[in-house]
Amino acid sequence: MSGNKSRLAAIATINNYGPIEKSSKFVEKPSGELFGVNVFSPQEMKKFLPGKAFESLKKTIETGAHLDINIADSVAEAMQNWAQAKGASHFAHVFYPLTGLTAERHDSFLSPDKKGKAILDFSGSALIKGEPDASSLPNGGLRQTFEARGYTAWDVTSPAYIMENPNGKTLCIPTVFMSYTGEALDKKTPVLRATQALNRQAQRILKLFGDHSENMISVTCGAEQEYFLVDNNFYNLRPDLVMTGRTLFGAPPPKGQEFGDHYFGAIKERVLAFMFEVERELFKLGIPAKTRHNEVAPGQFELAPVFESANIATDHQQLVMVTLKKMAKKYGMKCLLHEKPFAGINGSGKHVNYSFSNANQGNLLDPGDTPQDNAQFLVFCAAIIQAVHKNAKLLRAIVATAGNDHRLGGNEAPPAIMSIFLGEGLTRVFEQISNGTPATAVSPKEKLNIGVDVIPPLPKDSGDRNRTSPFAFTGNRFEFRAVGSDQAVASALTAISTIIADAIDDIATRLENVTSGAPEQFNSAVHELLKSVYKKHKAVVFNGDGYSEQWQSEAEKRGLPNLRTSAEALPVLIEKETIDLYERHKVLTPSEIRSRYEIHTEQYVKKIAVEARLVVKMADTIIAPSAVRYQSELADNCVKLAKAGMKPDTAALEEVTELTRGLKVSNTALKALIARKQEDLKSQAEFCCHKILPAMEAVREYADKLEAVVADDLWALPTYQEMLFVK
Ligand code: ADP
Ligand code: MG
Repeated sequence: MSGNKSRLAAIATINNYGPIEKSSKFVEKPSGELFGVNVFSPQEMKKFLPGKAFESLKKTIETGAHLDINIADSVAEAMQNWAQAKGASHFAHVFYPLTGLTAERHDSFLSPDKKGKAILDFSGSALIKGEPDASSLPNGGLRQTFEARGYTAWDVTSPAYIMENPNGKTLCIPTVFMSYTGEALDKKTPVLRATQALNRQAQRILKLFGDHSENMISVTCGAEQEYFLVDNNFYNLRPDLVMTGRTLFGAPPPKGQEFGDHYFGAIKERVLAFMFEVERELFKLGIPAKTRHNEVAPGQFELAPVFESANIATDHQQLVMVTLKKMAKKYGMKCLLHEKPFAGINGSGKHVNYSFSNANQGNLLDPGDTPQDNAQFLVFCAAIIQAVHKNAKLLRAIVATAGNDHRLGGNEAPPAIMSIFLGEGLTRVFEQISNGTPATAVSPKEKLNIGVDVIPPLPKDSGDRNRTSPFAFTGNRFEFRAVGSDQAVASALTAISTIIADAIDDIATRLENVTSGAPEQFNSAVHELLKSVYKKHKAVVFNGDGYSEQWQSEAEKRGLPNLRTSAEALPVLIEKETIDLYERHKVLTPSEIRSRYEIHTEQYVKKIAVEARLVVKMADTIIAPSAVRYQSELADNCVKLAKAGMKPDTAALEEVTELTRGLKVSNTALKALIARKQEDLKSQAEFCCHKILPAMEAVREYADKLEAVVADDLWALPTYQEMLFVK
């Protein structure tokens, strides 16, 4: 079937969809009963483990203490008994290599014994350590391929779980992935190290404010996931979606994203059925998802889980992406996680909601009820302002991917300029403090508390929201909105915790120098500190419209960096300040951060190279043929008219001819660029950014113009209109 016929058949197929059948395996159980049924949770551990071993494991999980190697075998046995009781036959170590994807290595519980029979074999060492032959995973020069054996080790703080497949079940063990020299080859290890760094530094502030509990401070994260759904019948006819996750061609639809109404058509039932099942699967894995529609773009949705501790949220976020993809397939759709699948239509992000807490005080970024809580809160807040200001470039660098570049700086996503939104209320408080305006009176009793008299009352909830800010205070947490929808949250969590730890380190040192004296002394020290930090770093505070042109020039005046592309942003990873920062807090060694820079840059280059080659191929083999067919139809018609003695109107033919020629010429230029070789990685990235991408854009421009004039029945590629609106 020729392309255009396939396209029309796809539309017909979709139009003929019947009502959604209830999934045969869909057990209607209240979510409460389903929640966590496939998780080896502390409750399950308690049932399956000897008392002493359970206590020891619990301590490790709660305090981050080392796992007692002597209990490994009993934990392994308990885990295996639990998993087998649930019908699992295999186990897998799951880890996150630096590509940001998920890698798994599966083993059977059974191994053949010498007499040719199978025995159960799952020892403590198999549980705790695995050796995947991961030689083809990128490591940015950390491992030579000939000695490619890194090992995976169980991350005890993240519970094991069971993944169901129609033909069997697998016990999945979340692990970290290290080289034999102890270097992190994954994205998870640095999250754990950065949390520890934050814990170390923030404890110092808590002590100053009288909390000597030493309860571990843990980072909390709730990551909102945006995604698109496209019908498989269209998806399969778009090589660009299949190969790159985004459309490399496509004229804007006559009706844009203002049409939320289309979105509540027949799709509603299918998408809802999909969402129900996604939610049910996630619940079984102990992921507290709450799904809902997103009204911004047609065919775009969002899923937000309830926040969890950072390392678990990191694992769960990966499972959310896997589950969305898997389940979409079952419902005849493709889930697109690319940051910008459709040019001109809102892209997708992952909003990382971030806070930290300890057992006795709860959320430490909650302003709290007493002025004392407020003083401590303001100190943390000041640290975050300082952190974002000093490390704006780094925050940009860790969200630098080929896909996210299409989003950052677009008119719906946060701009590439990193600023912080505090809201009116909190800004006013900082302004008052820095202007030395006397604080609003507090009662004498409260006045005795540390830090009290410098703190004006805080607004309970800033209430105002700013969707244009990349780093926004939202009442009791910060929301980092620049992360791409396709990215793991790990790098963001690692960087945020590290830069905050660094600022707290600085601030704690300044305050500790004055604590020897009386409370009044501490009070004025806090006051002075807030004042000076705010004055020094207030340039990064911006409550206005982050999408406006004005902000671009205003930000420049304020000296805020504006790294528009990944090619500019990625090298920040290997600047001296970055290397020192990560090393100072024992989060990444210089070679670990360098390897990350190399891998991310390589991925950027590779991704654009694939896109460019595909543009060439699609232009030559799909778009030009449609155009040429139409061109000959028009030419034939002109000849016929001339023969009949009529003067043919050649305008349409000329237009198509000109556009087709333009397509050819620009495509030839792109081919020539692709053939050019660059020396080092940095110049490759720059070449991709400044030469290849604009050349791809030039080809696209001709193609999209052709789409607007070529007879619809000759056009092969499903259009934006169809992919977004025909459901
Ligand atoms: P909004 O639309 O206002 O951004 P959502 O409900 O979409 O709110 O998402 C808020 C996200 O923030 C949820 O994932 C929520 O669990 C998370 N969140 C709430 N409190 C915290 C916290 N203390 N730490 C981290 N994340 C949090
Ligand atoms: Mg949000």
